[in-house]
Amino acid sequence: MKNAFHVMLVPTLGCPSKCSYCWSSEEGSPIMSIDTVKDVVAWLKDFRDDRVTFTFHGGEPLLAGPEFYRQALPLLAGELGHLTPDFAMQTNLWRMTPEIAEILAAYHIPIGSSIDGPQDLNDLQRGSGYYEKTMRGYEIAKAHGLSVRFICTFTSYSVAFKGDIFEFFRENGFTLKLHPALPSLRDTNPEKWALPPEKYGELLVYLLDKALEHIDDVEIMNINDLCRCVFTRRGTVCTFADCMGSTFAVGPDGSIYPCYRFVGMPEYVMGNVRDRPGVDDLAASDAWKQMHRFKEYVDQACRDCAHIKYCRGGCPYNAIAPTGGEVAGVDPHCVAYKRIFDEIGERLNAEMLQPMMGMGGFKDAPPGIMALMRKIVMQ
Ligand code: SF4
Ligand code: SF4
Repeated sequence: MKNAFHVMLVPTLGCPSKCSYCWSSEEGSPIMSIDTVKDVVAWLKDFRDDRVTFTFHGGEPLLAGPEFYRQALPLLAGELGHLTPDFAMQTNLWRMTPEIAEILAAYHIPIGSSIDGPQDLNDLQRGSGYYEKTMRGYEIAKAHGLSVRFICTFTSYSVAFKGDIFEFFRENGFTLKLHPALPSLRDTNPEKWALPPEKYGELLVYLLDKALEHIDDVEIMNINDLCRCVFTRRGTVCTFADCMGSTFAVGPDGSIYPCYRFVGMPEYVMGNVRDRPGVDDLAASDAWKQMHRFKEYVDQACRDCAHIKYCRGGCPYNAIAPTGGEVAGVDPHCVAYKRIFDEIGERLNAEMLQPMMGMGGFKDAPPGIMALMRKIVMQ
């Protein structure tokens, strides 16, 4: 089965926020022009013939302003209608205005934003005033009927407050997607905020318990995805699928990269939309070959792991960015993935065996992985 076709559009690498652990924002970054959007359309017209999702990412994509979206969205939706495009956006919401919200609402664009927990904790990690600005944007988005989910970055500091963070999300009725802080490539002390893999694994098990305990009133996207992976034995999010060749990112100047995470790193440019490269052209680039070297590496390095089919070595960016591009290991979060996949697999097996062993059926058991799977299917 082919992986989902995903094109991330990065209108700018600039961002008005200064989060302590951020690794991606760039001061004074240019903004993508509408001519580049037209080049994206021309590039994709005959590139691949299946449904595409466009995610506007950054930097901070709202810095591109209302006029950009007013022109870009009809171009992408109209001229690429044969690819039945879906849209999404990842934004801190600071620059959300009623005008932009109205434009995005016309295309039913779901918003992913970022909040790290209660205001004090969030602002300590993301900077003073962040919480208020994001919440102001959230209210505008909500008033225009946009759906907003929050990514919560857990750091080596905030993980100690995981209970408070969970309660914050539960009490506010926010869907939680967690993100482990990565070592910053720009910091003199890159590990300062990074969440160690062992702690990440423990956190995932903690959140699995919380998701089951509060099955009717919380949504933790990573837990849903991890359970779905084990249950279907297939990676259902990019981290656990071979993203190479199905996911691309286009930077402000039209450069094509394997993912938004590489945007701004010249060694990962695979081509430019103005040249309308086909798959074969991109496949000739060093970046494409490097991504595929990672895939081959995983086939070998993870061949004896029980989870290889639905883990696929994790995220290639996580694996190769810290080594300066060398393929020398799998995603450093392997320890965490193993921990949570083992946990889910063991619980699922035990649940399957219960009725056969005369220990009662699913009806009598407290909510388990099967109950969560039923909930996900019904959504
Ligand atoms: S490089 Fe990582 S974040 Fe980017 S698409 Fe691949 S798995 Fe996802
Ligand atoms: S859990 Fe670790 S060893 Fe297993 S497939 Fe994932 S990265 Fe490879």
